[in-house]
Amino acid sequence: MIPLSASTLKTESWQQQLAGAFSRVEDLLAYLELEGHFEPAMKAASRSFGFRVTRFFASLMEKGNIGDPLLRQVLPLGAELQDVPGFSRDPLADRAAHEGNGLLHKYHGRVLLITTGACAINCRYCFRRHFPYVDYQASPGQWQSLLRQLQQDAGISEVILSGGDPLILGNARLGRLLGQLRQIPHLKRLRIHSRLPVVLPDRLEAGLVELLERTGLSTSLVLHINHPAEISRELVDALAPLRRGGIVLLNQAVLLAGVNDTTDTQIHLAEALFQAGILPYYLHQLDRVQGAAHFAVQDATAVALHRSMQARLPGYLLPRLVREIPGTTSKQPLPLSQNEQPM
Ligand SMILES: *Cc1c(COP(=O)(O)O)cnc(C)c1O
Ligand code: SF4
Repeated sequence: MIPLSASTLKTESWQQQLAGAFSRVEDLLAYLELEGHFEPAMKAASRSFGFRVTRFFASLMEKGNIGDPLLRQVLPLGAELQDVPGFSRDPLADRAAHEGNGLLHKYHGRVLLITTGACAINCRYCFRRHFPYVDYQASPGQWQSLLRQLQQDAGISEVILSGGDPLILGNARLGRLLGQLRQIPHLKRLRIHSRLPVVLPDRLEAGLVELLERTGLSTSLVLHINHPAEISRELVDALAPLRRGGIVLLNQAVLLAGVNDTTDTQIHLAEALFQAGILPYYLHQLDRVQGAAHFAVQDATAVALHRSMQARLPGYLLPRLVREIPGTTSKQPLPLSQNEQPM
């Protein structure tokens, strides 16, 4: 086999790069010169939630470092197979909140649309690792009924495309969906939640940028970047046309033990995001999903970390520290107020 060089990567389309992603732990470890760290439990863990890492994301990792913060986010571990009390398969009760057709309507004025269950990489801490996507995502055939539902509810002013990763959809499908959303007069804002530009910057090709600029809606792109090493030159360059097109760039991160749970890393992340034209939006406390307990940071530790960030950052670079609590009407800021504490 001819080894992939940086220049072969460049000439491949984003779809080819997606298809060429690492799908076996051993291959990623070999690429990182970490063969000796392979354990059979990693295979077992990746049977419960698939292993998937783009070569571009792997290229941002440090070779020979098993503790690399990017590697840690995607490396399956035996610990995932342990049942830990308090960690469940559906921590956000999404199955109950689901309206059918891929629509999640939990918060006032905005709906979240699950466009696909697929992602370009599989993050081990993901709260959707057990979510039965096939039953919940909006298939193209269901879009008509879903659009009718949006049309009939004048209280909805914002649609959030989420997933999975909505940018996995090709431009043709996205374009059709956006064209239909544009026809709904009460819709004011479009938001896209995506990690794809981070792990595959070539996805932000000119055709997509044009689509996003032509929506006729105030549009924001909420990226998902957890560590400053994820902000590559390629990502910054690919985002520039979006910024010029007036698309607001925000970031949500998840607080992860061993990845980004120090004040210095968080400060560095906030500053590097701003340098790239992205504002920190949320810092999420981990959703307590089975298999992700080894990433959890105690609430008290998280609050102390957030306070020390606040002492060092300008207000506009301080992300809101939040936890999602099923049944509430927004993300809940930490520390939780008295009436939100469990009795
Ligand atoms: C997180 C979330 C949103 C978006 O919340 P914002 O606070 O507006 O960012 C909307 N709908 C659902 C179901 C969510 O989980
Ligand atoms: S939904 Fe986001 S966090 Fe979950 S696997 Fe996909 S990219 Fe990662």
